[in-house]
Amino acid sequence: MTLYLKNATFLDWQSLEIKRTHLAVEEGSQNGITLPTTLPSEDTMAREDRVIDCAGKLVTKSFGCGHHHIYSTLARGMPAPPKIPANFTEILQYVWWHIDKRLDLEMIEASALASAIYCAKSGVTFVVDHHASPMAIKASLSVIAQAFDRVGIAHLLCYEISDRDGEGPREEGLAETDNFLAAGNQGHVGLHASFTVGDELLKKAVALAKKHDSGLHVHVAEDRADQEDALAKYGLRVVERFERAGALELKKSIFAHCIHLTDREKLLLRESGVWVVQNVESNQNNNVGVAGYTLLTDNVMLGTDGMHCDMLRSAKAAFLVGQSTEGIGFDGIYRRFRNVHRYAQAFDFRGDGDNNIVILDYDSPTEVTSDNFLGHFVYGIDARQVETVICRGRVIVENHRVTTVDENEVLTFASEMGKKLWGKM
Ligand SMILES: [Zn+2]
Repeated sequence: MTLYLKNATFLDWQSLEIKRTHLAVEEGSQNGITLPTTLPSEDTMAREDRVIDCAGKLVTKSFGCGHHHIYSTLARGMPAPPKIPANFTEILQYVWWHIDKRLDLEMIEASALASAIYCAKSGVTFVVDHHASPMAIKASLSVIAQAFDRVGIAHLLCYEISDRDGEGPREEGLAETDNFLAAGNQGHVGLHASFTVGDELLKKAVALAKKHDSGLHVHVAEDRADQEDALAKYGLRVVERFERAGALELKKSIFAHCIHLTDREKLLLRESGVWVVQNVESNQNNNVGVAGYTLLTDNVMLGTDGMHCDMLRSAKAAFLVGQSTEGIGFDGIYRRFRNVHRYAQAFDFRGDGDNNIVILDYDSPTEVTSDNFLGHFVYGIDARQVETVICRGRVIVENHRVTTVDENEVLTFASEMGKKLWGKM
């Protein structure tokens, strides 16, 4: 099937060159786009081909999220925790671990479907998720994969394994990961964080990642407590501990947050080439501090940490915070926003090809040019303007509505599952 985007204002996401052109978009996991000067006549088109009129619309590559948690979807509006958390460790204990232990497969499905809808409607078509449900581990990753597939967005999943709930859930987490990756799914070996992962588990996780030619996806030094724990238990800082375990040799690894690192740890990460994901809104929400990432050179992406699904919002927040922490400019934040594609490309992950496209109804009061686009990116373009979204050459959002699933049905299901979850808390 070919999708023709007629009379588009097309922005090349890498060169920022703007062209008035048609686009021919091919369907498929790795297929791309061409920019024909004329469209084929209707009688020469295949029956399933389609033309979308893009006159006046800004068309560009859709977006990706480097660190997400679908498991937090049903937390919105939930009852207050049994104790008001006084620090980050208590936020985990009284909020997130209180929720994730009560998730069952049905709630996970609802969370993934609703989250995928929000991602799609925000123009996000490639999602790297980090999932936890200690009492429903088996099959959790395939439930999430199927939900994402139904909505039509591409994914790179993992289960966050840890020692926090003992040997049973730890071994189940390893088994779920092994089975999911062995079935040919793309993903990581997920770990929660250094302070909930003992040496035996860390060793097993690195071995599992090597077995599947994957990497780790883990929270790193999100709070100072993670460093204090590593120093007390192992006499090493968190990144040094991961280095000793061989985790820095796994180039596909994603280290989320990296707030409380020394310069030496940052240099270790830089030399290793592993990837870091910045999530400033979540860091501010949890009051764990904010970090500068300049020493990490270019391997920095942006994520949501499950706070929401809107990567344009993540980029704006990272820009505002980054001015004081590292003097970041428009070009720096745009590069970070787009680095998720470079990450996917570097390791041949499927589902983030050139045929992932967003059509923006961008009602700008001023002219958009190649030279001033980054100013529009930071101050003008937002998710409200996401009109149509194409993932792997297939339309998944049209006129602001998801076309692949019934949004109302999913939200009704999610709301029922939310009540069920809150009832168990
Ligand atoms: Zn996270």
